[in-house]
Amino acid sequence: MTIEGEPSETLRINIFFDVDHTLVYPTQHFNALRPGVHEVMLRIREAGHGVYVWSAGGQAYVERTVEMHGLGELVDGCFDKDPKVDPRPDFIIDDDWYLVEKYGGHCVSQYKAVDDADRELHDVLVRLSELGHL
Ligand SMILES: [Mg+2]
Repeated sequence: MTIEGEPSETLRINIFFDVDHTLVYPTQHFNALRPGVHEVMLRIREAGHGVYVWSAGGQAYVERTVEMHGLGELVDGCFDKDPKVDPRPDFIIDDDWYLVEKYGGHCVSQYKAVDDADRELHDVLVRLSELGHL
């Protein structure tokens, strides 16, 4: 029997979010969170998947950013963008197409200006739904 909202362990995937220009628009003066981050991470968690954040800026940078935007409760782990990262990424969300090609996932436009109308992260949910993960 399948319990709704609790997919079996085999269906659980590890979803990795990039930081700069994917989750946030960083400047010297402020750090703007992209619209939809909390909602999208919550939806992914509720589907039973792992939510991770990684950056070439390093683990401490990721942890600071996650903390700054109150995402700690939604995130299962923060990592440096190391190809040997454990757990393995099954689906990445990144503004770098090369990395999306390498790992598989969804490429978002670069978040480079505060834009309340930005819907790129909601498109991630559409994609995950199409793939049968939501
Ligand atoms: Mg980036």
